[in-house]
Amino acid sequence: MSFSLARYLLNLHFSFSSRTTRATNNHGYLLLAPDANTMKFTTTAILRGDEPQKPSAEELLVVVGGGAAGVYGAIRAKSVAPNLNVLVIEKGRLLSKVKISGGGRCNVTNGHCADNLVLADHYPRGNKELRGSFFNMHGPMDTMSWFVDRGVDLKTEDDGRVFPVSNSSSSVIDCLLSEAKCMRVSLQTGKVVTSASASASRKFLLKIERRTLKSVELVEADYLLIASGSSPQGHNLAVQLGHSIIDPVPSLFTFKIEDTQLIELSGVTFSKVIVKLKLENVQRNIPELTQIGPMLVTHWGLSGPAILRLSAWGARYLYASGYKGKLIVDFVPDLHIEDLKSMLSQQKNRFLKQKVLNSCPVELRLVKRFWKYILDREGLMGDTLWASVSNSSLVSIANLLKHCTFEVKGKGQFKDEFVTAGGVPLSEIHLNTMESRIQPNLYFAGEVLNVDGVTGGFNFQNAWSGGYIAGSSIGRVAGNASLEGAM
Ligand SMILES: Cc1cc2nc3c(=O)[nH]c(=O)nc-3n(C[C@H](O)[C@H](O)[C@H](O)COP(=O)(O)OP(=O)(O)OC[C@H]3O[C@@H](n4cnc5c(N)ncnc54)[C@H](O)[C@@H]3O)c2cc1C
Repeated sequence: MSFSLARYLLNLHFSFSSRTTRATNNHGYLLLAPDANTMKFTTTAILRGDEPQKPSAEELLVVVGGGAAGVYGAIRAKSVAPNLNVLVIEKGRLLSKVKISGGGRCNVTNGHCADNLVLADHYPRGNKELRGSFFNMHGPMDTMSWFVDRGVDLKTEDDGRVFPVSNSSSSVIDCLLSEAKCMRVSLQTGKVVTSASASASRKFLLKIERRTLKSVELVEADYLLIASGSSPQGHNLAVQLGHSIIDPVPSLFTFKIEDTQLIELSGVTFSKVIVKLKLENVQRNIPELTQIGPMLVTHWGLSGPAILRLSAWGARYLYASGYKGKLIVDFVPDLHIEDLKSMLSQQKNRFLKQKVLNSCPVELRLVKRFWKYILDREGLMGDTLWASVSNSSLVSIANLLKHCTFEVKGKGQFKDEFVTAGGVPLSEIHLNTMESRIQPNLYFAGEVLNVDGVTGGFNFQNAWSGGYIAGSSIGRVAGNASLEGAM
């Protein structure tokens, strides 16, 4: 550890069973190694009598969570206030989601949203609140500069997604970890912050457990940044400190469709469709429940950007409906239905003696397997000749292509990206500092908040922006405190 935290640790009054051992670790921590069933201790804690009163120049920020928001925020806080001690506590592995993100490539941010109002529209939860100062203070361009300045070359793909040129999330992780090391941010893994309380002197008393050693540490922090992602433990900490939690529900998932003939098309992609979700519990017309974009047939349903966007905007409605509803797909969104009908009619007249299956109108650009699916749904055998297709069948085919209905039977699992809607309500924090409106010196950033974006790098951008703003605010406050302490 780059600095001694001993002075922030508290003596505890313990009542030990004979099987409990006590020890001091090499950082001067008081460690407990109890038999979990027999350990008892009172929660009264006092500052170590032999420690001098700590000057404000040595204040401590504890960051709960070593994900994108936590590590970015910690680095920022330390760079604004170099005298501030910054400790990140991570229960698992640092930046584990960054590692697996974007199929291992890490979609760092989105490069097609220079306008912050357009950017905010990519957040089903947060779109109104994030229109203000949030992205002005640290937006996608700032994120890109941050990484590029530290040696991570980035590229923007045609759809706006930004990746490291290396195509490896390790470039992003290595950059963040080496920056943290360089800034002397202390990163501790394998430890869980299990409880938090605030004292009258505006400090935080944190209980940190190392499960493998069955040890408990109590740490007193001057500032607390909760960047715990969607973890229920992080939500509990927020509640312990007076916050409420909007019920978490999944966002960004595929739709399970029980249609064996459709599933046979697994792997077929559509570059542009319009998808519309109809749910029994939603009577009014919600514009966001209609989306346009690419769609993909998977081995158990439908996926692709248009579906994922729909799942994000419809996350709460879908949850309430048990993930059951109707999906209406327009496979030829650039064609008016009347033009489509006349196109099919012309096709019939030109190819009367050809099999329908072998002569789909080329303008429709449909793969043969999907054309067969449409004909099957219409009850037309593949070897039927165009001459035998009735006019009413032509109208039905046109209707199917424009309004093809699928029964959504459930939620699939999308392995490339998955986020949680819900968390700490944005109304309970100041978005220009990320500080709690309820508890001074308490900050939040990232997915722990009720913010989530659609796919395309928007979720990491929320983590970078929130972490940066929180780190800047904490750094400023700590810097001022340190100046006052020096005077
Ligand atoms: C498979 C997958 C791929 C994704 N790909 C992308 C992508 O390419 N682009 C994109 O923008 N978004 C992507 N996302 C979403 C993105 O990963 C998250 O939105 C982002 O990681 C949120 O960052 P965070 O720091 O808020 O939370 P997290 O990354 O979840 O980090 C929180 C950390 O806190 C730790 N923690 C929680 N509670 C405690 C506690 N009490 N004590 C100690 N530690 C604690 C957790 O272990 C975790 O490491 C993906 C998500 C998944 C699941």
